[in-house]
Amino acid sequence: MSKRLENLAEEMHKGRLDVFMVTRLPNVRYLTGFTGSNAVVVVGRGAPVLLTDGRYREQVAREAPSCEPVIYRGEVAAALAGVLPDSGTVGFEESVSFAFHSRMAAAVPAGVVLKPTESLVEGLRAVKDAGEVSAIRGAVRCAAAGFEGALPVLRAGATEHEVASEIDYRMALAGAERPAFDTIVASGPDSSMPHATAGSRALAGNDLVMVDFGALNEGYRSDITRMVSLGGLSGHRTEVFDAVLDALSAAIDVLEPGIRASAVDAEARRVLEERGLAERFEHGLGHGVGLEAHEKPSLSLLSRDVLEPGMVFTLEPGVYFEGEFGVRVEEMVLLTGEGPEVITRGIAIEQQV
Ligand code: ZN
Ligand code: ZN
Repeated sequence: MSKRLENLAEEMHKGRLDVFMVTRLPNVRYLTGFTGSNAVVVVGRGAPVLLTDGRYREQVAREAPSCEPVIYRGEVAAALAGVLPDSGTVGFEESVSFAFHSRMAAAVPAGVVLKPTESLVEGLRAVKDAGEVSAIRGAVRCAAAGFEGALPVLRAGATEHEVASEIDYRMALAGAERPAFDTIVASGPDSSMPHATAGSRALAGNDLVMVDFGALNEGYRSDITRMVSLGGLSGHRTEVFDAVLDALSAAIDVLEPGIRASAVDAEARRVLEERGLAERFEHGLGHGVGLEAHEKPSLSLLSRDVLEPGMVFTLEPGVYFEGEFGVRVEEMVLLTGEGPEVITRGIAIEQQV
């Protein structure tokens, strides 16, 4: 049995589950290696059973040779009921749809109890192994090449969309499978929206441009934000930029194995509070990155996660002035037994074009 399935078996034991149904595709990939777009994995005592449809007959054999494949037609609930035991507790991921749950409840044998679970596999995925860390480092390299390669087109007159397309293209040239998410290029007043996209606005002199980008490499992602100023920073903007950088370095300074994620968020918030900017930092400090762009751990005031060696996550303090401008800087950190390693440090923070 793979280490990942062994760890899952432990979690299933703790949750008193006889069988566990994995429906979230990133979790399927993590546990089995299968990358198709339709799959449910049933983990019980023997080899995991992987249910998929006829399109993936060949792929499932190649990518997930340790699974027992079941190629089904029609309704997945009926196929699932056919591979479940007659009795026992069957865990399912709480993110399933209401329709899926209703069909399962109707299809399973009378002796089966369906039990919702929260983040069973996501919790395991938060701690990366060496292969995952190296894939993430590759995703950082592709993203860095994309961003740096696109700087020459990041000029007054270019639209946000043109800049984003150039970053995406350069990331692909550097070996990225595709962008990790829709590249954000938010210029001028657009930068005050934390989750802006790239639009038709043309960059203008004196703009502050927020660029949030990442690449997908071997299934793993990067997520980085840099600010680019056209014509330099001055006055209020410099103060805000410095405050965000101070919040970022304060957060990095407190990172150590065993610290609560909420305490790291609180530390960044404390620095912004001192500058009277805490109310303008309206999102969490960061999030894990891996097979998904947002995953565990969550670094926010409400998080109950504890940071452990092997976790890879972002720190992204941001301050936003509605309709005027925003500043966010986002680094990715690998926590090791010795402390934090900022794996995005090579991409210059102070960008002026
Ligand atoms: Zn980001
Ligand atoms: Zn992020």
